[in-house]
Amino acid sequence: MTLNKNDDCIFCRIAEGKSPCAELYSDDLVMAFLDIAPVNKGHALVIPKAHYRDIFEMPPTMGEALIRAQQHVGNAIMAATKAEGLNIYMNNKAAAGQVVFHAHWHLIPRFANDSLRLWPQHVYDDTEEMLQLAAEIRKKLR
Ligand code: 5GP
Ligand code: ZN
Repeated sequence: MTLNKNDDCIFCRIAEGKSPCAELYSDDLVMAFLDIAPVNKGHALVIPKAHYRDIFEMPPTMGEALIRAQQHVGNAIMAATKAEGLNIYMNNKAAAGQVVFHAHWHLIPRFANDSLRLWPQHVYDDTEEMLQLAAEIRKKLR
């Protein structure tokens, strides 16, 4: 199978076996390996082997293989680390914190007492503001 590759991309090099990683899982379409700078130990990344910059470039048909790998690897991480939970999240584009521009999902094992807060939450000024924004977003779906 010929996959879309980018020679300047570290995750493409890992997917091709040209750069080392602590591999957890690999199939034709997807692979998973430990993040070098874990939020909690066992923090892993699940990537499509083909190069897509972010979720918006990725064909939705990749979704099944990615979710399957996230469930499979996520269960194994929780079992091995004795984690009580798992955050799965993704950064898309620099403003959202994306640093490596090859689509990837973070799998972060969580413990009841790890005191990690991923992000602060805010409130809308009032219900009207919230409903107006929902209407604006729905318009963009058309
Ligand atoms: P982003 O901020 O783009 O969502 O996350 C990129 C992640 O990739 C970071 O958590 C970072 O620690 C990890 N990372 C960057 N370079 C490498 C690498 O060469 N190998 C591994 N295993 N992880 C990497
Ligand atoms: Zn890549």
